[in-house]
Amino acid sequence: MDKTRRLIIAGNWKSNKTNSEAVALVSELIRDLANVKELDIVVCPPFTALSDVSRLVLESNIRLGAQNLSDAGYGAFTGEIAPGMLRELSVRYVILGHSERRQFQKETDAQVARKAANAHSNNLIPIVCFGETLAEREAGITEQIVETQVRGSLAGLSVEQMEMTVLAYEPVWAIGTGKTASSAQAQEVHAFVRQVLTSLYGESVSRRVRIQYGGSVKGSNARELLGQPDIDGALVGGASLDSKNFVEIIKNSI
Ligand code: PEP
Repeated sequence: MDKTRRLIIAGNWKSNKTNSEAVALVSELIRDLANVKELDIVVCPPFTALSDVSRLVLESNIRLGAQNLSDAGYGAFTGEIAPGMLRELSVRYVILGHSERRQFQKETDAQVARKAANAHSNNLIPIVCFGETLAEREAGITEQIVETQVRGSLAGLSVEQMEMTVLAYEPVWAIGTGKTASSAQAQEVHAFVRQVLTSLYGESVSRRVRIQYGGSVKGSNARELLGQPDIDGALVGGASLDSKNFVEIIKNSI
């Protein structure tokens, strides 16, 4: 079992928290997580709160992430956020290809790949999400779907870029539903993804890439999930909106 990879736990606040609410939440996290050194902690507030949250986390052990990124730079792209805007706020990570964006904004693997390349060109670390729907799992095509998404969403990344990239396996049927994949179900897909990475980039790269699990992670299931050999952290939605719940996940994962 190779768990030399450092765990990474990220909170995806989605379209929740006004700026003042975000400031209050992150202040509690800074206070309650100050002594945690064993793993990487990331919060991903909405764009409107990045500036204030950035100032607060600057001297802390909490890193900042965004929830999306343009596939272009500055320019006439109404509503888009260019990488330089995030860099100025000390944003380190950016979630890409979340299933909600794939579903509601019809984001494709090719778009995710362009955004991931754009992130890397600007020293941002993409957290690239993928996962099957319930219908796809029941049809027995989980691996096929996951492999297509992984290959498509990482297309064109160099070895160095791949090593830095974080992946997040998020079965769509487990997101926000309270249904968690069993640790065995999740481990099976994570091990499969590592095989796909091996075929794309070779074994030594594949062994270094961190793959998070996401889907109804909470304090009570974090230890079991993150104890699996190929699960290297969690992307947390609902439970990251409350400091007690997020802190419990982190403390139970150490
Ligand atoms: C997510 O949306 O990334 C997620 C995992 O949500 P939840 O934890 O609420 O299932």
